[in-house]
Amino acid sequence: MAKKEEAKVRYISPLPELREKEYDPFLEATLQFERAATFLDLDPWIYQRLKYPERELTVHLAITLDNGRAESFTGFRVQHSTVRGPAKGGIRFSPNASLSECKALAAWMTWKCAVLDLPFGGGKGAVICDPLKMSENELKKLTKEYTLAIKDIIGPFKDIPAPDMFTNAQTMAWIADAYGQGQGYVEPAVVTGKPVHLWGSLGRAMATGTGLFFVLEEAAKYLDIHLEGKKVAVLGFGNVGSSIAKLVHQAGCTIIAVTDIFGGIHNEKGIDPFELEKQVGQTGSVVNFPGTEPMDNESLISLPCDILIPAAVEGQINRDNADRVKARIILEGANGPTTLEADEILKEKKVLVAPDILANAGGVTVSYLEWVQNLQRYFFTEEEVREKTKKKIKKAFWDVVATMDKYGVTLREAAYILAVGRVAESLTALGRAA
Ligand code: GLU
Repeated sequence: MAKKEEAKVRYISPLPELREKEYDPFLEATLQFERAATFLDLDPWIYQRLKYPERELTVHLAITLDNGRAESFTGFRVQHSTVRGPAKGGIRFSPNASLSECKALAAWMTWKCAVLDLPFGGGKGAVICDPLKMSENELKKLTKEYTLAIKDIIGPFKDIPAPDMFTNAQTMAWIADAYGQGQGYVEPAVVTGKPVHLWGSLGRAMATGTGLFFVLEEAAKYLDIHLEGKKVAVLGFGNVGSSIAKLVHQAGCTIIAVTDIFGGIHNEKGIDPFELEKQVGQTGSVVNFPGTEPMDNESLISLPCDILIPAAVEGQINRDNADRVKARIILEGANGPTTLEADEILKEKKVLVAPDILANAGGVTVSYLEWVQNLQRYFFTEEEVREKTKKKIKKAFWDVVATMDKYGVTLREAAYILAVGRVAESLTALGRAA
């Protein structure tokens, strides 16, 4: 009883708190954790131990740009938890990256890996830069400098980076190279999401989209609905948005709207994501796709549709627009796309929110399989990767549903209760509580 009181005392009521502040990703992540903690009889020491990241590293990097000018960049690597295994999580290149964002994303990785029961903790890294304005040569230099700056805290048994926003298989290959040069040998298991010819896993490129689709299939079973003919709106058309768009299209859904950082498009009769991808390959944007009307993010969020897929940045479904959501299902391709305040509104509206730490876990699940293959130097076929991923994601979905029923909470709250409970049990078993 005393233990529970302790956890409750520290539970901050989110709504008035957030209204006063600008969107702060780590505050969001902390409040989500605290909410789960109120349902669990957490030892106060464990509660304090999991509330903050274990380590936050800030680095400053200098490179010479193609025009001969020297420029410095700030980067981060945050390890939220290494309780259940090495920290695991992506590296993003973004002008809006911040330490608070990395801390939140690292915590979300801890909970994501725990929901999937992967033997990892959580981490995240970023470099503040504008990758769209940089050449391949500049990005390569920046990646290698960043790797050298964080090399002491990463490694196959310490912390394993992966792609995230505006990083990809090539970025991971550069990291593997810089790390390998320091070690004196090639160590593929230091990063996941590598090119296949550098021991990346088959199926990794589409993995987040594939995982989202498996979750959507299970959510449809749970709601007893068919996917065929359902109207879908996709916010973001990067790796995640484009891969899930193709999969739902193949399943017979109609994609009625897509947006990206440059604008968006709408057509009630349907948008072919394969054709759209071709255009994006040529112009870099979904804007002006033939046969569509322009559409912005806010209009997309309030569009009458069955499935809304936020697959861009954090905080896009918030207290200002949640009330206008018409979708029955929100499938979170992005990390942290829905704020806590929006969650309250969506709960009232009975929208089923498939939360990020479950819905977009396909990426890290295939990363886990890649790491396993790298450590063994033994490789799976694409079909094996797909089947193993499907099994893990399906199990996680129904584990979360069982937790939801047990506690009478939302899917997101259930995912947190499951994840925080698992990490707390591991911590208890380690016997480190002081
Ligand atoms: N960046 C992805 C995520 O947010 C993948 C992380 C990983 O594979 O480690 O889940």
